[in-house]
Amino acid sequence: MKNGRIKEEMMKEIEKEVKICKKCDLYKGRKNVVFGYGNLNSKIIFIGEAPGKNEDETGIPFCGKAGKILNRLLKSISVKRENIYITSVLKCRPPKNRKPKKIEIENCGIYLKKQIEIINPEIICCLGDVSLKFIFKNFSIDEKDKISKVHGKIIKANNKKIFTTFHPAYAIYNPKIIKLMEEDFKKLKGLIC
Ligand code: URA
Ligand code: SF4
Repeated sequence: MKNGRIKEEMMKEIEKEVKICKKCDLYKGRKNVVFGYGNLNSKIIFIGEAPGKNEDETGIPFCGKAGKILNRLLKSISVKRENIYITSVLKCRPPKNRKPKKIEIENCGIYLKKQIEIINPEIICCLGDVSLKFIFKNFSIDEKDKISKVHGKIIKANNKKIFTTFHPAYAIYNPKIIKLMEEDFKKLKGLIC
């Protein structure tokens, strides 16, 4: 196991790289890179899709409306944000929050893979289908079902537990999704504790 200091240094190196990254066109419109934030010794990493407007303006992941929902869900299972690690598949905001392109996911996903390697969490929690598809592909999980079927289930791969729930932004105007996410988070609590 890597000690905390080494993890911090390795993560800082990648963050430096990402801050000047021009691998895809998204760098042109960004105000800030949204690298990721939290505890490098966390046993769980939460992975979203891409920064939105507020995140682009501040550089902090999940600090807007979707973030408020995520905070509420975390609070409901007594998990503090400072004890976990949160990032997204893309580190720069797509224009008008459009869906990430395949090439952007491929390019930026390299950084996410490195973040996962450094943190080496027991549990990976995918928030939404972009994150889910990326993680399933990278862990060679052959699962064709949609998020509506996979959410709330635990899939084991490479000594890790892969858990999926919906993207919190999807729940903003959708009380049914919020209910499902609340149930998923209860299951997640069982895994974390
Ligand atoms: N949505 C995401 O997927 N990531 C963020 O950081 C914010 C909103
Ligand atoms: Fe680089 Fe990722 Fe930003 Fe594209 S989205 S420029 S790959 S940091």
